[in-house]
Amino acid sequence: MNKKQKKMLTRIIISFVMLVILNFLPITGLLRMALYLAVYLVIGYDILRKAGKGILNGRVCDENFLMTVATIGAIALAVYTGSGDYNEAIAVMLFYQIGEFFQSYAVGKSRRNISALMDIRPDYANIEREGKLEQVDPDEVAVGSIIVVQPGEKVPIDGIITEGSSDLNTSALTGESLPRETHTGDEVISGCINMTGVLKIRTTREFGESTVSRILELVEESSSRKSRSENFISRFARVYTPAVCIAALLLALLPPLCNLLIGRTPNWENWIYSALTFLVISCPCALVVSVPLSFFAGIGGASKEGILIKGSNYMEILSQAKTVVFDKTGTLTQGVFEVSGIHHNEMEDTRLLEYAALAECSSSHPISKSLQKAYGKEIDRNRVTDIREISGEGLIAKVDGTEVAVGNTKLMRRQGVAYADCHSVGTIIHMAVDGSYAGHIVISDIEKPGARDAIAALKKAGVSKTVMLTGDAKAVADKVAADLGVDEVHSELLPGDKVEQVEKMLAEKSPKAKLVFVGDGINDAPVLGRADIGIAMGAMGSDAAIEAADVVLMDDDPMKIAKGIKISRKCLSIVYQNIIFALAVKFVCLLLGAVGYANMWLAIFADVGVTVIAVLNAIRALRVHKL
Ligand code: ADP
Ligand code: MG
Repeated sequence: MNKKQKKMLTRIIISFVMLVILNFLPITGLLRMALYLAVYLVIGYDILRKAGKGILNGRVCDENFLMTVATIGAIALAVYTGSGDYNEAIAVMLFYQIGEFFQSYAVGKSRRNISALMDIRPDYANIEREGKLEQVDPDEVAVGSIIVVQPGEKVPIDGIITEGSSDLNTSALTGESLPRETHTGDEVISGCINMTGVLKIRTTREFGESTVSRILELVEESSSRKSRSENFISRFARVYTPAVCIAALLLALLPPLCNLLIGRTPNWENWIYSALTFLVISCPCALVVSVPLSFFAGIGGASKEGILIKGSNYMEILSQAKTVVFDKTGTLTQGVFEVSGIHHNEMEDTRLLEYAALAECSSSHPISKSLQKAYGKEIDRNRVTDIREISGEGLIAKVDGTEVAVGNTKLMRRQGVAYADCHSVGTIIHMAVDGSYAGHIVISDIEKPGARDAIAALKKAGVSKTVMLTGDAKAVADKVAADLGVDEVHSELLPGDKVEQVEKMLAEKSPKAKLVFVGDGINDAPVLGRADIGIAMGAMGSDAAIEAADVVLMDDDPMKIAKGIKISRKCLSIVYQNIIFALAVKFVCLLLGAVGYANMWLAIFADVGVTVIAVLNAIRALRVHKL
């Protein structure tokens, strides 16, 4: 509980006790009124002030206004009729405040859960100067600096370990509870906590570009993107509250005036009381509070599992996912290729591999990284010039002044080079040196260990179609698809063809069944943007992908797609439960009011009760671990 909440609770208790005591005191007249009014002000002064401010700012009809009118009206009636019963007005305020207290507690709780995630924000980075560690602002660390991370500290900036080994706790980023072993040469992302050994890390990004900063940005932005249900509620409240005020006014005026006209007693106090009750019943707090809170909790719960959903609108669309389209490399497969054969004409193996690795020196494609790794030696970038990467085909570069083309059969055809077919299963990287065919390198990718289960889990979660799109050769694509149980596969696609395929599927499906595209963003960022929902692999994915995607998976685990869908379904079902429940209770109370059974006590109990239940229900959206 924070300070404000403690103060609130104190006020609630004090005014409750005062109210009980006053009811036992035999006082009447002005003194009675003054004492009761004092209690009323203790419990309600902030509501009155907010209502007043609202009126001054031209926002007349909000909940504060409803509560103020209803309670002041009730007091006025008590004075007018001389009944001296001020309990009702005070009780309405008291219960309303209990509801507010409760809600602020709940919001605080889910905010704390999100800020546990926010806790990944590092405050400093250690730099070694003349043998001493110095703490500096992570913003001031230049790319390529060496930082030192001691056990118990957070990794502040993305980088590569140059010295030391340790276990890293990545749970704040990925929800993965087992620590990850890391050694010299491994990449580490910021936000992890160093558990055991001292690490020296050469930074590969600026702080602002590092994983931790990007996640925080995403989470901060997510609350500003509202879903349709959420927008519906705020539009609803904007129209609803004034309508209720007008209806109450009519209820207070019309029947007595009619009575006057036909010559009966107007019965003012009865009708005004009904109108005030009507105002209290109609208060839309439960809806206005619980719907955004449910989304907030759902997004928080998902981020604890390493699924970053960039807004509640995406939460809503994700819950309607029916088709999931995957990119292959890096999404369903690890994107870590092993060289399994080198077939060449005249050149030696190592020479061919050297050409390949050099030509690939600046590509970010997984193939490039693997070829460089297989080559294993330091790469002298000065030997490489005129690099031209052709998406979905490969690349052409000059190595020591000789033109080298590295890529698939499409690239060979583009270069007019006659290539030899290869019978090995795997991705075949053909090479042409100086315009003539030099041979090929066979590399093979490994499927992600959880990929098969991930596809099965999607099916179980009600996804009706899974599709794989890839730029790789048909033989490899078909084999992977069959292994994993993907329904449909399209291979040998250029990046533009992937967009076209997705557009075709979008056109064929019904608008209610949503299409999800999952990719690593290396040449598929346009598709990520085009699909109803784009999901990017965050750890391995490019910055462009994380930018273009609506949902980011922190640990690249395809299993998280089904989980994300389940989380969003749970969240949406909670939203609908709350909407229906709140409206139903209001409706029943209004009916009771119309036939004369409802008084203000019932109204306030109904309102606060519904709010409390709806808020409790909303909090359930946070609990997603077991889904
Ligand atoms: P995917 O759709 O599986 O992610 P891409 O569209 O990235 O595949 O690439 C398709 C094909 O283009 C690869 O299988 C490879 O044959 C070739 N290719 C793409 N980039 C490169 C590269 N940098 N070096 C060699 N070949 C490449
Ligand atoms: Mg790709």
